[in-house]
Amino acid sequence: MEHQRRSKISDLLKSKEYGKEVLVKGWVRTRRGNKNVNFIALNDGSVVHHIQVVAEVANFDENLLKLVTTGSCLAVKGVLVESQGQGQNVEIQAREIEVYGSADAETYPLQKKGHTLEFLREIAHLRPRTNTFGAVLRIRHAMAYAIHKYFNDQGFFYIHAPIITGSDAEGAGAMFRVTTLDAGNPPRLPGGEIDYAQDFFGKETNLTVSGQLEAELAAMALSLVYTFGPTFRAENSNTPRHLAEFWMIEPEMAFYDINDNMDLAEEFLKYLMQYALDHCYDDLEFLNKMYDNELIDRLKGVIGSSFERLTYTKAVEILMASGQTWEYPVSWGADLQAEHERYLVEKHFGKPVILTDYPKDIKAFYMKQNTDGKTVRGMDVLFPKIGEIIGGSQREENLDALMNRIHEMNIPEKDVWWYLDTRKFGTTPHAGFGLGFERLILFVTGMANIRDVIPFPRTPKNAEF
Ligand code: ATP
Ligand code: MN
Repeated sequence: MEHQRRSKISDLLKSKEYGKEVLVKGWVRTRRGNKNVNFIALNDGSVVHHIQVVAEVANFDENLLKLVTTGSCLAVKGVLVESQGQGQNVEIQAREIEVYGSADAETYPLQKKGHTLEFLREIAHLRPRTNTFGAVLRIRHAMAYAIHKYFNDQGFFYIHAPIITGSDAEGAGAMFRVTTLDAGNPPRLPGGEIDYAQDFFGKETNLTVSGQLEAELAAMALSLVYTFGPTFRAENSNTPRHLAEFWMIEPEMAFYDINDNMDLAEEFLKYLMQYALDHCYDDLEFLNKMYDNELIDRLKGVIGSSFERLTYTKAVEILMASGQTWEYPVSWGADLQAEHERYLVEKHFGKPVILTDYPKDIKAFYMKQNTDGKTVRGMDVLFPKIGEIIGGSQREENLDALMNRIHEMNIPEKDVWWYLDTRKFGTTPHAGFGLGFERLILFVTGMANIRDVIPFPRTPKNAEF
């Protein structure tokens, strides 16, 4: 086949250049037809829709057409013509077909439509070839891009927090150890404990659970910063909303209090929903039709609503007066579960909710302490279907208050000396939050399980691919 520039199917489907000779490349979704003519649905991942390739059987070698199976990869040269068929404007009258790679009909796992999402997880190496995962992956890309664009436009700087960390003070969850010691025979101290001084970094190290503490250091110099990177939690929680490896976006802002922080979180989330509607409409329409027919309305609903803001204490009163029976009982001081969060959002208020001023005992050491001695200036943003999508707070900028809390929580000062230094030298009020990227993608795609919004999910007992 003579060299020519490949057209993307997304461009051709919008084109009106009938009669033009084009070259397309992609994977066959279906081939049907009769002894005279074959119709090949070809997809190159640029868009959820396929382009129809029409091949007159008489013009092609019989053995070549046999290789055009579901899952095979082709280059097709032909003429773009107006389509008579329903649901498409254009199709390609094939002149030349080159088969890059056939796919054996007996063993290619994606033969028919309508595989379950559970089955597709077992073939995560091939599921990007389905309409569903194509749509999810394109939306995921668009959201990552929109996040960088939003912050860049607002004058934030992107900070790369370390992935291997020597601090385990964050307390956000159990950590994965990073070591090069021989697991079967580690060096030991006279008392029998493992001698981490002999480990790669000369100390215990782990995969990070959050880039926040490092982001705070940067905010104390650049004012407005954010991180966007992978985070790891070795929690054994097998839920549809938890991964062991997930991506987190953590803006951190000097001179912000909790109200500024809430304003930013709300504006940011609405910007992302609007971006998805503006740039991913085909994919959203597909997901809306196939999985969740309230998806697009829900996105528009969030954009049009003003998030309800109330304290944790008030929320607990509402939950206790609700007359609901809970799997986990509600009482002041207990952490809220997804069932409580979703009741507030979906049943009580009917819109996103931001809860503030949580009991200090269920929150991290760095949150700004209120004068009541019981609560801290934390804020969680709760979304329909998801529950917590963002967790954040104003930070404790006062050195004495922070030291007291560290001692109360038995955090060794030597582990956080560098963090404390920011409160010694030029401290200032500041605030920030963490948005779980996959929770965002769950919401924007309407998918029900977090394993279906990341290419290769890591969960307890599962690290295939
Ligand atoms: P949850 O209570 O839902 O377990 P968390 O309070 O432990 O979450 P934070 O430490 O506040 O979570 O993390 C900030 C954000 O990161 C959360 O609001 C959520 O969007 C996301 N997140 C937290 N843990 C996970 C996880 N295991 N998998 C995916 N996203 C997560
Ligand atoms: Mn949280």
